[in-house]
Amino acid sequence: MIEYNKLRVRVHLDNLRHNYRTYTRLHDRVIPVIKSDAYGHGLLEVSRALESEGVDTFAVGFVHEAAALRQGGCDKRILALLGPIDAADDALLWEHEILAAVSHFDQLRRLVATAETNGPLAIGLKFDTGMRRLGFLPEELPQVIEILSGSKLTPVMISSHLASADTPGREVDVEGQHAQFQTVIDGLAEAGFEVEANLANSAGALAFEQCRLSSLRQGITLYGGNPFCGTSLEALGRELKPAMDVVAPVMQVHPLKKGESISYGWTYTAEADSVVAVIGVGYADNYSRSLSNTGEMLIHGTRVPIRGRVCMQMTAVDVTALMGEGKGVAPGDEAYLLGGPGPETITPEEMAGWWGSISYEVFCLLGMNQREYI
Ligand SMILES: *Cc1c(COP(=O)(O)O)cnc(C)c1O
Repeated sequence: MIEYNKLRVRVHLDNLRHNYRTYTRLHDRVIPVIKSDAYGHGLLEVSRALESEGVDTFAVGFVHEAAALRQGGCDKRILALLGPIDAADDALLWEHEILAAVSHFDQLRRLVATAETNGPLAIGLKFDTGMRRLGFLPEELPQVIEILSGSKLTPVMISSHLASADTPGREVDVEGQHAQFQTVIDGLAEAGFEVEANLANSAGALAFEQCRLSSLRQGITLYGGNPFCGTSLEALGRELKPAMDVVAPVMQVHPLKKGESISYGWTYTAEADSVVAVIGVGYADNYSRSLSNTGEMLIHGTRVPIRGRVCMQMTAVDVTALMGEGKGVAPGDEAYLLGGPGPETITPEEMAGWWGSISYEVFCLLGMNQREYI
């Protein structure tokens, strides 16, 4: 948590709940993905807000994230998508009753051995159907079954992850992964293991009904990011409401005369007499320097462009348009870096576009600042 600044991240928990409900209309088993501190929205705060919606399983990344969620008071099923990395993680699975996705043979054999002393354990199995990160290959299933038989491990879930569900035109690739995954589900069933199967992330669940299977893993859309923004499928995410606003204070307001330049390197020169406001945010607050001369902020409901380079703790914006009769900007006013009220609200995808990134990274990085919940 970054604590040396005046930035505030405001999380609208009501919007988060609303976004979860848009998915419970698609399927009765939605697993909220709250890894990486709930994409910067706060692990415990988000889990508590969703527990009241009837969630029975949460997904996080590493096993110690799962342990932190358990220690924070969560009594629901907790899935650690990244599985146990070392012996310390292994022990946490038993200690906190965590369901971990097991993705390779070393890990599986280690858990089989540990179960001999620690007792029975329910596990998940992760299969690689094309992402080529983690997971057993479909053809490794017989060997997985062989190792499991006679062990104290019980598989209760299998998962795989789609590589291009958010890209219209890649339907064939998604269907290919789905078909491969189905062969694994069928193979396990033939071996007598009836397990919960999930494949779809946010985008996969919205666009591919056949990928919804026994449960969905909802990440980015929970936070109001639309994975189809800017594509032909954009309307699929029209009901989502971004849950994160980020504000920083105006520190000083002064004229920038025609021909004067501003900030390091003088990369911006005023084309006309103008007024700039210096905002208390910079790259040290995870506000990317790539927003220099590119991004916008929202002050009193009006968009204002960034002028010159983003500095470590300061960024200048052009507020000339706000300086007319009866208007004005003064030190202490709030500038929205993300979100904000009204039609000019800065969307996560727009911010990501200026940043040269995706909404996921915008949330994770800005979310490391001090948060308030409303
Ligand atoms: C992060 C993650 C998700 C969530 O993906 P979104 O695109 O954010 O919905 C789902 N499954 C796995 C395995 C993940 O790592």
